[in-house]
Amino acid sequence: MITIKDVFEDYKLLNKVYEANEVEAITLLAISEISNLSKAYIKAFPEKELNNDQALKLKDTLNRLQTGEPIQYILGRTEFYGLPFLVNSSVLIPRPETEELVEWILYSLGERQKEDERQKAKGERFGKQAENNILDIGTGSGCIAISLKKNLPGARVSAIDISESALQTAKANAELNEVDVNFINVDILDPQLKTQNSKLSIYNIIVSNPPYVTLDDKKQMHSNVTDFEPHTALFVPEHDPLVFYKAITDFALLNLVPGGLLFFEINENFGNETMEMLNTRGFRDVMVRKDMSGRDRMIKAQRP
Ligand code: GLN
Repeated sequence: MITIKDVFEDYKLLNKVYEANEVEAITLLAISEISNLSKAYIKAFPEKELNNDQALKLKDTLNRLQTGEPIQYILGRTEFYGLPFLVNSSVLIPRPETEELVEWILYSLGERQKEDERQKAKGERFGKQAENNILDIGTGSGCIAISLKKNLPGARVSAIDISESALQTAKANAELNEVDVNFINVDILDPQLKTQNSKLSIYNIIVSNPPYVTLDDKKQMHSNVTDFEPHTALFVPEHDPLVFYKAITDFALLNLVPGGLLFFEINENFGNETMEMLNTRGFRDVMVRKDMSGRDRMIKAQRP
C-alpha cells in the first residue's frame, strides 16, 4: 500500500524536468484527478492510503511526465476560462494568456453595449442592436470560440481551422460545454479566400491566436512544448513572422463589417510591427495590450 506522502516522494523525480513549484502543482493535480480526492483533502491527509489501481495509474503517469509529456495531454483534459476542455496532441494546450484575450473581448463588447444603450437613452440611436456574429480563426481546441459562446449566449459563433483532427476535438469540446458553434475546415492562407468564400459570412468580431513562434524563439522553448505540442499550431513560416496576421487582416477587410473589431494574440516581439501593419491597412484605434507577465500579447483594432 502506498500513501499520498509516498506519491509526493516518488514524484520528486520530476525535479529534473520541472521547477520545484511546478512539481508540487503537477503532483497535486495527478493525485487529485486519479484518486478523485480534492486538493484540499490531499494536502490535509498525507497518510491516506491509495488503492492498487490508483497507485499503478500514478506510476504510469509519472513515467510519462518524466519524458516531458505535459500533464494535460496525459490526463486528456484541462480547464480554460473556468470551463472543461478535452486536449490531445492535435491541439495546443490552452494558455492563461489566451484567457486574458477572451476577457478583453468580453470587456470590450460589454463597453460597446453600454455605449449603445447610452446613445439610445439620449435618443441618438434607434432600433435593436445587431447580434454579435463572431469568427475564431485557427480555433484548435475551440477554447476561444466556446468560451465566448458560453458567455454570449445570443451570439452566433463560427470557428475555422486547417486541421481536421483539431476540429474533431473542438466539436467534442462544444458538446462537452453544451454550446452551438459552427466549425468549418478552412486554411486561412488559401488564396481563394481573397475572392470571397460562400461558406463564410459577415462578422462583427474576428479573433485569432495564430501560430506565432519563430525559429529564434524555439531555441528558448521548453522541450515539453516543442516535443509534444502540434508544430502547425505553434510555428510561423520562417520567411515572414506576420504571414498569418496579414492574411487574417486582408480577410477581415472583406468579411468584417465596418466598425467591426479584430482581436489577435501576438508574439511579444512583434507588437509594433503588427500594429504598423494594421495601421497601413487602414484599421483604426489599434491598441496593444500586455499579458500578466508584462509582455505585448494582444491587439485590438477596428475595421474602417
Ligand atoms: N503562447 C504559445 C507558446 O508560447 C504559442 C501560441 C501560438 O503560437 N499561438 O507556447
